[in-house]
Amino acid sequence: GSFSQSSIDNVFVDFPPCIRHLYDVLQRDNRLPHQARFDFSVFLKDIGLSLEEQLSFWEAVYMKDPGENAKCTHTWEKHNKHYIYSIRHIYGLEGSKLETCVKSCTDIEDIKLAVNEEGGCPFAHDDDHNLKKILKKCLPNNPEDIEVIIHERKLSAQKGCQAYFYANMLKRYKYRVPDDEINFQNPAEFYLLTEKFSTK
Ligand code: SF4
Repeated sequence: GSFSQSSIDNVFVDFPPCIRHLYDVLQRDNRLPHQARFDFSVFLKDIGLSLEEQLSFWEAVYMKDPGENAKCTHTWEKHNKHYIYSIRHIYGLEGSKLETCVKSCTDIEDIKLAVNEEGGCPFAHDDDHNLKKILKKCLPNNPEDIEVIIHERKLSAQKGCQAYFYANMLKRYKYRVPDDEINFQNPAEFYLLTEKFSTK
């Protein structure tokens, strides 16, 4: 698909806020905690990254020194076998040989996060203050849109994310997606729906 031609650094702006946040943490720290790294890898597989693309992505990041806030100090040199195994496992090439697929939004919303644990759904897990911080990074200079999104998520996390989807499509692609076409059940579907509308 169109994904393999563009690197992750060109498309992350169209990731849903849950994954976008993990991407930002990874950019800052060059590391992710275990569960977050796992969830991000499964997402990358489900939006169409091949095993080889995925391995070179993680190698490039984990060859860098961990940032000062990083909670993990593993290096690619020392731990690459572990990482390669766990990524191959996600693609169904190791162990049980079952491919792992991304969790649904409803399952992600129900996750119980430990204090300061990265992950989950920002529309379900973050208070208004933290959610605004995440949204400001994703939608800089769009305070009105952010107010609408904050208002919509009071109805449900899904409504908040749909409002975000709408605002992102309008901002980046000048496309007003009809409400009844904003339909996704998991973070990968969110991204693939953006891709579908943005190439119209
Ligand atoms: Fe991610 Fe789904 Fe939450 Fe949107 S509603 S941020 S896609 S978990």
